[in-house]
Amino acid sequence: MSATSPLPAEAAKPVQVDGLVKRYGEVVAVDGVSLALAPGECLGLLGPNGAGKSTLIRSIVGRVVPDAGTVSILGEPAGSPAARLALGWVPQDLALYPRLTCRENLDAFGRYQGLRGAALRAAVDRCLDWAALAERGGDRVASLSGGMKRRLNMAAGIIHSPRVILLDEPTVGVDPQSRNRIFEMIEALGAEGISVLYTTHYMEEAERLCDRIAVVDHGRVIAEGARDRLVRDAFGTRSEVLVRFEDPDGPAAAWARERGGRLDGGVAHFEVEHAADIGGLLEGAARAGHEVADVSLHKPNLESVFLHLTGRELRE
Ligand code: ADP
Repeated sequence: MSATSPLPAEAAKPVQVDGLVKRYGEVVAVDGVSLALAPGECLGLLGPNGAGKSTLIRSIVGRVVPDAGTVSILGEPAGSPAARLALGWVPQDLALYPRLTCRENLDAFGRYQGLRGAALRAAVDRCLDWAALAERGGDRVASLSGGMKRRLNMAAGIIHSPRVILLDEPTVGVDPQSRNRIFEMIEALGAEGISVLYTTHYMEEAERLCDRIAVVDHGRVIAEGARDRLVRDAFGTRSEVLVRFEDPDGPAAAWARERGGRLDGGVAHFEVEHAADIGGLLEGAARAGHEVADVSLHKPNLESVFLHLTGRELRE
């Protein structure tokens, strides 16, 4: 018997962006971006200010009409009622009622989303818990710290239990404690199979939170993959070793140059193929009689990847 059943149609991706272009006059804010988000995945959009991250997010929400390309959310076109229902969007700016309490705010946002009665009450409780604001439910927004407001704003964006959540730089201007809390909130979403698209210009956030990272610059995705893969593609196993000699202006400088080192402010920068090569380098310096005052190993990170790909710092 050789009955072969047809392959099942591939399930629609939580987010699918194909060939997206958006221009503002002369400015090409998004310049041919294609990307897809898998269920339960946190995809980071990492790029400097002005790279086009917000425009991309706003196109996914359906707030920006692209000049070319398509965007679908779970197979539904961006901006359609089904796509809106599936999406939770947390923009950078706070959109809360300062005179209302936390609970009243979430209640209002839940009503906008069509929730009523027991379902609404359960959603409000769930979101207060998620944002670690259960004990502040009766407090007015005006009395909250900046970080708490930000968390409440996030809670308002997910009151309708969306399958896909878009977060636009949620930690900008937030104190370190709230920032950690926000990270935990995002990690909890992944554990529930919710997909997250996270824009940031903070490399550490992308490294900590995101399963996959799309590096964005001038409206294009210039590299995409898991963090370690991006670093490996750019640098292989190479690392940088920084050596400060006791007498940086003496013969040690010439020795460092001969060994392929680059001197910068009295510190010699060497590239080593493997971190373990640091031993040989230091032995060589000792044999040549150059005393080392300080040594450090710098493994490349996403910041280095960005510098490598663009010749610029991420935070310029
Ligand atoms: P990012 O979120 O990465 O900081 P944006 O998407 O906000 O980048 O901006 C990308 C580019 O598009 C920038 O040059 C910005 O000035 C421009 N831009 C964004 N929105 C508009 C708009 N509504 N009108 C004109 N230019 C815009």
